Amino acid sequence: MPAKKIIIVGGGNAGLSVAAQLLQKDKNLQISIIDPSEKHYYQPAWTLVGAGIFDINKTVRNEKDYIPKGTTWIKDAVETFFPEENKLTCKSGTTYQYDVLVVCPGIQLDWQKIKGFKETLGKNNVSSNYSFDIAPYTWELIKNFKGGTAVFTNPVGPVKCGGAPHKIMYLACDYWRKQGILDKCNVHYLSGAGVIFDIKEYAATLTDVIKNRNIKPHFGVHVQEIDGANKTVYYEEKDANGVAERKEMKFDMCHAVPPQSAPEFIKNSPLADPNNPFGYVEVNKNTMQHSRFSNVFSLGDCTNAPAKKTGAAIRKQAPVVVKNILSLLNNQQVVAEYDGYSACPIPTQYGKLMLAEFDYSNTPKMTFPFDQIKPRWTMWVLKTKILPWLYWNKILKGTA
Ligand SMILES: Cc1cc2nc3c(=O)[nH]c(=O)nc-3n(C[C@H](O)[C@H](O)[C@H](O)COP(=O)(O)OP(=O)(O)OC[C@H]3O[C@@H](n4cnc5c(N)ncnc54)[C@H](O)[C@@H]3O)c2cc1C
Repeated sequence: MPAKKIIIVGGGNAGLSVAAQLLQKDKNLQISIIDPSEKHYYQPAWTLVGAGIFDINKTVRNEKDYIPKGTTWIKDAVETFFPEENKLTCKSGTTYQYDVLVVCPGIQLDWQKIKGFKETLGKNNVSSNYSFDIAPYTWELIKNFKGGTAVFTNPVGPVKCGGAPHKIMYLACDYWRKQGILDKCNVHYLSGAGVIFDIKEYAATLTDVIKNRNIKPHFGVHVQEIDGANKTVYYEEKDANGVAERKEMKFDMCHAVPPQSAPEFIKNSPLADPNNPFGYVEVNKNTMQHSRFSNVFSLGDCTNAPAKKTGAAIRKQAPVVVKNILSLLNNQQVVAEYDGYSACPIPTQYGKLMLAEFDYSNTPKMTFPFDQIKPRWTMWVLKTKILPWLYWNKILKGTA
């Protein structure tokens, strides 16, 4: 029998994890990974880069060194899917046929949805840890801040690592506290979310941090424009009657996060969920199998599964996808289930971190035998030292 052809779209965290795990289970599978990028990024460390404690150059490596041996890397970008015919076409014009398709090209950063953001990014005291090129500038701003108004924004809608827009704020405030200037800092958090964190047990810890650092949170806010030259952010905030009002705030530094959605070629494809405003791939949130095309699976940031978009979620999704693909190829029922697990390591100050873990039920799901609601030094070591090592040496190799 000819070997089954599996195509993986995207060789990021999800794609490489699935490829490596599949090969461990069955060396005879014919796996191709399609990804145009020469580089692979460890994005979770960009928060630490912005906080001045991680070298940006240690967050990037050559993709070729992490493509699992025994798979084929097709250096191209997928453009069009034909799931009825089990094929897809790339930018180069080449068409590929598959038995099973795994879709994981990550998420798209919609910088242009905030007017003026892209133009001022990396200058005029406007930064974002969501960009490899710009994250080091965040540290320049934090380090050189002498007091004044610091604005941190979080867009409306899901973003990768929902904690990242505010993690950097806690670290910045702690740095300014240590410099003895926190009382001269007027810190505002403009968030599109309704609360600081969805799981109330973890939210309680963050609410204390916000209070202790005298941060002014604004929830349900829609950031619309950043005018870098005039150092002003424009946003819509609802008044007590729920009527949206356009407001402006002058800033001395601004860390902003772009709105996010599915990559355009996913949005415009038959794989997208027609009812999802962000165009994510439509999957069964437990099996990660496409809801309409049974030989298509999807995981990572690009799906409509209502899990938080993190590498931690991928660690639990990947084995489920692998198991279900193998069942499908063996004409068995697809039964492995993902429970919505995700984790968000939130540093509350330098040297202390709260590891928030939870699942679809939005209740804490702690791994360690102690109360993770309390920020701890051990969890800080996990985030700053152990997880980066695990990522490059174990997770991408399918052994963790
Ligand atoms: C600032 C920041 C902080 C974060 N902090 C954490 C954290 O603390 N903990 C945590 O668990 N997660 C964190 N994350 C989230 C984590 O990085 C992502 O959830 C994870 O990388 C998603 O993996 P993925 O494989 O879905 O996408 P990615 O890893 O982004 O990979 C997508 C791949 O698809 C490729 N691709 C794109 N378009 C195409 C195409 N047309 N054809 C083929 N390939 C394509 C890309 O080149 C890329 O290689 C953070 C992210 C950021 C930005």
